[in-house]
Amino acid sequence: PNPVPEFISGALDPEQLDAVLNSSGRTLIIAGPGSGKTRVITYKIAHLVASGIKPENILLVTFTRAASREMIERARRASGSDLKGMLAGTFHHISNYFLRKYSNRIDINSNFTILDREDAKDLIKHCRSQLLEETGKKNSSILPSAGVLQSIYSYAVNCGLSLRESIVHQNRKFLGVEEYIEEIWKRYTILKSENNSLDYDDLLIKALQLFESNPEALEIESMRFRWILVDEFQDTNILQYKLIELLSGVHGNLVVVGDDAQSIYSFRGARFENVFDFLKAPDTKTFKIQTNYRSTPEIVRLINNIIPSSAIEKSLKAVRNPGPMPVIAETWDNMEEANFVAQKIEEHINDGILPEKIAVLYRSHYHSLELQMELDRRKIDYILFSGPRFVETAHVKDIIAFLKVLVNPYDQLSWGRILRLFPGVGSMTSVKIINALQACEGDRDKIIELLKEFNGSRIRLENLLAILEPVKDEKQPVNVIQKIFDTFYSDYLDEKYPDARDRKLDIERLMEISERYSSITELLEDLAVSEKVDIERERTRKEARVVLSTVHQAKGLEWDVVFIIAVNPGDFPSYFSLNEGNIDEEERIFYVAVTRARDYLYIIKQKGGRSRPMMGNRYVFRAGHDFIAKIPEDTVEFWDVGWDL
Ligand code: ATP
Ligand code: MG
Repeated sequence: PNPVPEFISGALDPEQLDAVLNSSGRTLIIAGPGSGKTRVITYKIAHLVASGIKPENILLVTFTRAASREMIERARRASGSDLKGMLAGTFHHISNYFLRKYSNRIDINSNFTILDREDAKDLIKHCRSQLLEETGKKNSSILPSAGVLQSIYSYAVNCGLSLRESIVHQNRKFLGVEEYIEEIWKRYTILKSENNSLDYDDLLIKALQLFESNPEALEIESMRFRWILVDEFQDTNILQYKLIELLSGVHGNLVVVGDDAQSIYSFRGARFENVFDFLKAPDTKTFKIQTNYRSTPEIVRLINNIIPSSAIEKSLKAVRNPGPMPVIAETWDNMEEANFVAQKIEEHINDGILPEKIAVLYRSHYHSLELQMELDRRKIDYILFSGPRFVETAHVKDIIAFLKVLVNPYDQLSWGRILRLFPGVGSMTSVKIINALQACEGDRDKIIELLKEFNGSRIRLENLLAILEPVKDEKQPVNVIQKIFDTFYSDYLDEKYPDARDRKLDIERLMEISERYSSITELLEDLAVSEKVDIERERTRKEARVVLSTVHQAKGLEWDVVFIIAVNPGDFPSYFSLNEGNIDEEERIFYVAVTRARDYLYIIKQKGGRSRPMMGNRYVFRAGHDFIAKIPEDTVEFWDVGWDL
C-alpha cells in the first residue's frame, strides 16, 4: 500500500487516522464533541484527493455554508489541491444545484426564485388574510398565526406527514379549523407556483422527486459521486437521508459523522434515530473517537457528567493542559447578569484574549437584549449570530427584490415590494399594477412600457424607470445595486430611517459581496441559501468582535471563553419545552452549549423571584427543570455575584 502522506498522519491521532484511512462503503464515525469529527472529514477529503480521486467526484454536505467553506479551505491547505469541481454545501444548496441543472426534467422553470423563511411567511400571511376576508373573519382569533402555520407546514413536509398529523405531532390543538389550515396550504402552494418560486422545503422535496422520477438524472449524479461525506449527520431529516441514500446508490461510499447527543433540530424534523438506523444496517462500518482536543480537563470532566442519554457510550478523554474550573455564577436578575458578563468580557480582553475568541450563548435571541445594551454602554464591539438575518432586513430585501424581478419578471412578491418604495403607490395601486404586469408575460420591454403608462403626477415611477431601463440587460449584480442606490435608494433611506447610516453600510457590504459574482442568478442563490452566520462570520473575520449567538447557531463552533446566560428554568430549558415534554432535546441543547468552550466556561443563573417577561405581559414563574441542580458540585466553582458583594 502507498505510504500515508505525513501531512495527514502527522495531524491525526491513531483513532482519527484509522477513520480517515479505512472509511469506505457505508461508514459511521460517531464521537462526542470536540473529538475531531469535522477534522476527520476534512482530512478524508485531503486523503481522497491525494490518492487520486478527482474533487468533482466528491460531495460534501455540511450544516451551514460557513462550515463548508471553512472545511474546503482547510482541506485545500492540507492537500495542496484547489478542490475545484467538488460539490459542497448544505442540503438546500445542493438541492438547488440539482434543480437548476435538471429543471427541464421536472416541471419547474429554471429561473425560479428561492423564498427565504421570511418571504414564505409573508406569502402564508397573505393567503391567511385572504381566507379570513372571504369567510367574514369569523375565525380570526382561533386560526393560527402565519408563523405557526409555517411551522406546521414545514414540519409536515420534512417528516412526510399530513397536515393533521403534523398538528398532532407538534402537540398543537386547533379544533375545528383544520380545514382552514389545509385551505391556506393549498392557496400557498398555488401562489408559489404563480410566482415561479420555491421555499426551502420545496428545494429538498423537489430534488428528491427529481431523482425518484428520473432514473437518468439519478444515474448521472450517482455515477459522479463516488464519495459522499456528511458532517453533523444527527441533524438530518428523513428527506435528506433519502437523498444521500439515493445518490450513494452506485458507489456506496457514504461516510457520515455525528453525535446523537448533539441533535437539536427536531423541530425541523431532524431524526437522531437516523444515526441508529445507519448503525444497525448490516454493512455499516463504525469508528469511534474518544479523545477531546477542544477543552481543558476541567471542562471535559463537567461534559462527561452531563452527557444526555444516548444509546452509544461516549465518555471523553481529556488531553489538554489543566485550566481554571468551570464557573456557575449566580446573579440576582438579568440586569445584574448583563453587568457581570460585560465586566468579565472586559477583563478577559484586557488579559489579552482576542474579542472574537469570546462568545455568549443563549437559548433564545431575546435573552441577549440587556447584554447588548450593556456592551453598547461599555463600547465593546459584538456581533449577533441571532436575530434577523442580514438578508432578512428590510433594506437588503428591497435591493434583492430588484435583482429578483430582473431574473424572474413573474415574481409578484418582489414587484409588490419594489412598487411600494415609490411615491403614490399604496397597496391598492400596487395590486393594480401587478395585475396589469401579468399580461406582459415576462417581456421586459412590455413591462417598461406598462410602467410608463402608470407613471404620472400622482403615481411617481420615474426613478423606477430610470433604474429598469438601463439595467434590463445588465449582468453584473454590483452595477445594478450601485444604480439602484445612486438613483434613489440612498435618499430614500435618509428620509425613511433614523439609522440610515448603518443601513447604507449594509448595502455597501452587499455590494462587496456581489462584486465576486458575474451573474445575478448566482448571487441570489447564494444569498437565499446562505445561513445568517455566513455573512456575519465574514464580518467577524475582518473586525474583532465578541460573538453573541443562540446555541443553535453555535453548532460545531468553539471559543476560548464561553458564557451561557439565562440558565433558568423557563428560559433555558425553554418554557415551551416544559409544557410539551421535550426536555430531552433541551438537555442536548445545553450539552451543545457547554461543549463549545475551550478554556473558560461561565454558566449564569438568576436567582431572583421570577424570570423576565415573556410573550407580552405574561410573567413566567420559575419552576420545574433546573439544569444547574443536575451538575455535580465538585465539577464546578460557585460564584455569588450579587449587588451586595
Ligand atoms: P463538534 O461535535 O463540536 O462538531 P468535532 O468532533 O467536529 O466537534 P472538531 O471541531 O473537528 O471536533 O475538533 C475540535 C478541536 O480539536 C478543533 O480545534 C480541532 O482543530 C482540534 N483537534 C482535533 N483533533 C486534533 C488532533 N489530533 N490534534 C490536535 N488538535 C485536534
Ligand atoms: Mg464538528
